[in-house]
Amino acid sequence: MILTKCAVCATELGLTLGKKCGRCSTRYCGPECQKQHWEGGGHDKLCKTIKKAGGAEQYHANTKYAEAVGAAAEACAEDTKGQTCYICTQALHWKTKEGLVRGCACRGTAGFAHVSCLAEQAKILFAEAEEDNLGDKAWNERWIRWDRCGLCEQKYHGVVSCALGWACWKTYVGRPEGDWLQRVAINLLGNGLFGAGHHEDAIPVREAELSTLRRLGVSEVTILSTQSNLAITYEGLGRLDEALRLKRDVYSGYLKLNGEEDENTIRTAHSLANSLRLLERFDEAKSLFLKVTPVARRVLGENHDITLAMRTSYARALYKADGATLGDLREAVTTLEEAEQTARRVFGDAHPLARTIQGDLKRSRAALRARETPPTTKSQN
Ligand SMILES: [Zn+2]
Ligand SMILES: [Zn+2]
Ligand SMILES: [Zn+2]
Ligand SMILES: [Zn+2]
Repeated sequence: MILTKCAVCATELGLTLGKKCGRCSTRYCGPECQKQHWEGGGHDKLCKTIKKAGGAEQYHANTKYAEAVGAAAEACAEDTKGQTCYICTQALHWKTKEGLVRGCACRGTAGFAHVSCLAEQAKILFAEAEEDNLGDKAWNERWIRWDRCGLCEQKYHGVVSCALGWACWKTYVGRPEGDWLQRVAINLLGNGLFGAGHHEDAIPVREAELSTLRRLGVSEVTILSTQSNLAITYEGLGRLDEALRLKRDVYSGYLKLNGEEDENTIRTAHSLANSLRLLERFDEAKSLFLKVTPVARRVLGENHDITLAMRTSYARALYKADGATLGDLREAVTTLEEAEQTARRVFGDAHPLARTIQGDLKRSRAALRARETPPTTKSQN
């Protein structure tokens, strides 16, 4: 569950500390905060409403969902002007009056919808699979409707993924603790918040996910992947040292569990090396890249997105370092030229990775040119 703080003084309570309102389960650090909330904080008026909505977690989820839908419709307003929902065929939702969104890869007049309609569709599809006990494959195929467009099959991004994250969480928050759906829902919410750049909100969600998983005693691999998501979220918020510490743990965890040729190990090594680079620990970053890149090339192949991203990051560590030598700059340019050709051939010009590499190639060439051009002597008048 994601409400882990006292509703009055925001003391961190984890999953079990403090006390709860007997009626609505709002959480407090102790009787003083609870009394204050009731007498002066308006809880005497709100308690019944929260209880009726299904308790504090459900009420919070419903409130955040409504906010996120409003924000998503507003952000998409320009793009969705004059369009209608492909599910209910209306411009304005008949019941909620919410506006339209689109946050996938659909083009032209395709893919406009209400978050409520997308959520309702995902909920119904999944409920059918659950009721009829259709098995893991059908469960997975239907579950992805919560974060992937059914028309273009691409993942929703930004504000739309955030609103759907809250929609999903609001749908399954009431399941018993440890229920599979509650676990995947909190994960989806964390991804949505992260995708929309709400790193501050994503952190307590990721942390709650992690402590729930620990309490349930899930596999070490599941814990590692959750820690890895948390580390990236810390990084997004500029908490680079915490991110680095966590990434070191995750990397050594994967290394011990799966060995150096595992895709997750390689992926985490890349992420760790990037953290080192961001903290300007260029030598450490370079030596990790040099150790892991050959493994990626051999195991995943030259055309794999991680291999390409690693080569790009390595080149970046080379040309961005303060003490970069002429040899470093030349190596960076050559590496990026090769990576750019591969990325273009495999993913096409418009792919984000291809674009990133193009940008780095430009900057590294500029750095090399600046170094190769001898400084001009000032003419004296
Ligand atoms: Zn308190
Ligand atoms: Zn209450
Ligand atoms: Zn609709
Ligand atoms: Zn789409």
